[in-house]
Amino acid sequence: MRHGRKRTIYSPRMADREVLAAAASALADRAVEAARILTNAGAATDDHQVVVDRIAYVATEARVIAELARVPAELADVALVAAAELAANIPHRLAPVAPVLGLGELRYEAAAAHAIATGIAPPAVEAIGAAAIAAEGRLTWPLDPELSEIRANVRSFAEREVAPHAERIHHLDELVPERFITEMANLGYFGLSIPESYGGLSFGNLAMILTTEELSRASLAAAGSLITRPEILAKALIAGGTADQKQTWLPRLASGEVMVAISVTEPNTGSDVASVACRADRAPGGWSITGAKAWCTFAGRADVIALLARTSDEPGARGLTLFIVDKPRFLGHEFEARQPGGGTLVGKADRTPGYRGMHSFSIAFDRWLVPDAQVVGGDAGIGRGFALQMAGFAAGRLQTGGRACGVTQAAVEQTARYVAERKQFGRAIGDYGLTRYHLGRMVSRLVGARAITYAAALAMDADERAAAPVAAMAKLFACDVAVEVTQLGQLLHGGWGYAEEYPISRYVADAQVLPIFEGVKPILALKVVGRSLLAR
Ligand SMILES: Cc1cc2nc3c(=O)[nH]c(=O)nc-3n(C[C@H](O)[C@H](O)[C@H](O)COP(=O)(O)OP(=O)(O)OC[C@H]3O[C@@H](n4cnc5c(N)ncnc54)[C@H](O)[C@@H]3O)c2cc1C
Repeated sequence: MRHGRKRTIYSPRMADREVLAAAASALADRAVEAARILTNAGAATDDHQVVVDRIAYVATEARVIAELARVPAELADVALVAAAELAANIPHRLAPVAPVLGLGELRYEAAAAHAIATGIAPPAVEAIGAAAIAAEGRLTWPLDPELSEIRANVRSFAEREVAPHAERIHHLDELVPERFITEMANLGYFGLSIPESYGGLSFGNLAMILTTEELSRASLAAAGSLITRPEILAKALIAGGTADQKQTWLPRLASGEVMVAISVTEPNTGSDVASVACRADRAPGGWSITGAKAWCTFAGRADVIALLARTSDEPGARGLTLFIVDKPRFLGHEFEARQPGGGTLVGKADRTPGYRGMHSFSIAFDRWLVPDAQVVGGDAGIGRGFALQMAGFAAGRLQTGGRACGVTQAAVEQTARYVAERKQFGRAIGDYGLTRYHLGRMVSRLVGARAITYAAALAMDADERAAAPVAAMAKLFACDVAVEVTQLGQLLHGGWGYAEEYPISRYVADAQVLPIFEGVKPILALKVVGRSLLAR
């Protein structure tokens, strides 16, 4: 079956970015519609994985282009560069699957082709790079006065308190200093998106994203990721906790009194979350946990672990329940805890090239007792753990979009400063057109990542459930951007970009983890973004 082209209606008064948004959406919609038919509304996704991956990316990029058409006027030039590059790429993404989708011609109409040519023209991109060098990579993104103030306050905190320690924490693989947690707690950062009625600030998701971004700009692991875990548990509690649990836990999360680790992944179970095997069995006084978990970030310092465990022999997601597991704090790379009744919990951090500061542990529970009151949702929550965990992950993914933007911003700034100082062949390397072009692309990619992440934050404020797919798109896109931009920044540093003494090498190492957690990239594309597009 051939999916014919519908003509996109352009008005002569449409700006180039709007033309691109309309053209890219038309192409993406056509591809999604064809994929929906091919996969029987997603039921046959596994028979057409490459198709679904491609349409997930194309729909994500089309959404980014649509958001770029709405960014503040001050960003219009760079947004056009970003939108044009993305739009130009969409036909290439679709090319391998176009025949099976029966898409026919993938060319844009004249107005869109013209807008693309304008945006991707080297002088347009180089001008963005030159402006970035002049501004030392600092990008203006106008916000309303309240959000501007929040951003300015976090920025000054992060520059003053976090940034001076970021390199040392990374090189020595130290734990996040306790002082960061206390000060962030005092500033209310852990309660930004928790309702006021539960001790939070109710500032909403955009304030949370701006905070995360600024902290991640200083250090992804030593500050920018501290809010993620409480955010995931808070959203799971709001979605399905009992009234008592909300009263007990949300104020403690909002105040930073309770630090959280999230434990879903196991040595043999990662993407296939429904196959979690760690057991929780009824025992006198509650539930007895036995099993191994992997990659539990911050498990040492955390006061509680939000643990997904199997509570029945029923296979798949229906047998899973979410627990809040108390544990003592430990500050090292290994720990062992014992309960009076004989339960044990041991953990050992796995060494990683980046994302240091929180330490990610392999842990093992043996008959570790958890009281009944700490089954999220109480009796009604038994067997609902998968859904609650996923509600938490939707928030986590949005937050990771913010983390990715922060690391990307840091890379842009470092690179802009470096290319202004470094001289080769008698000139600053930032004077060369190719350097400016690369830097211009770095900035434009960042603006795209921010556009979709901020839009996802506002959409989450309006309707969390409906906005989960766009939060996943924000994560998918912004994390790719972080990897690409940090690597490009490293390249522009030449050999020194590979030296540990230059922060760009830390940004590269840190960025690599972003597309891995909270749904590794291929799974996020196939099973979250792709599924949501096809099931409509
Ligand atoms: C530094 C770090 C910190 C982390 N922190 C946490 C944490 O705090 N809590 C937590 O629970 N987890 C955490 N994780 C784990 C992370 O969420 C998992 O690594 C991730 O979900 C992927 O699971 P996996 O590693 O088992 O990969 P796998 O599931 O084995 O996937 C590996 C690859 O296999 C392919 N693949 C798998 N299934 C399919 C399929 N159906 N179709 C096509 N291809 C497929 C994909 O290419 C995928 O990339 C962390 C990981 C890291 C590296």
